[in-house]
Amino acid sequence: MVTLEDLMRAGRRLEVGCFACHYHGYVDPAAIALAPDTPTPFAGDRMGCPRCGARNREKGYPLWSRPDARQPGWGG
Ligand SMILES: [Zn+2]
Repeated sequence: MVTLEDLMRAGRRLEVGCFACHYHGYVDPAAIALAPDTPTPFAGDRMGCPRCGARNREKGYPLWSRPDARQPGWGG
């Protein structure tokens, strides 16, 4: 799986969405306080929403994350 470190090396961002507040944005992976070997699909589970602070240990699992899909090649 693609990790945060892979994104940093490639100069890509992490795409993050939140169903709780409808946030959708692109986050610098170096600015996320998680281990660099965190797989991108799990980053959303472990970080808080940049806007509303929702977390996936709360009801509804509102956060999702994937490599920046505006750049082709790596998918989700
Ligand atoms: Zn949110």
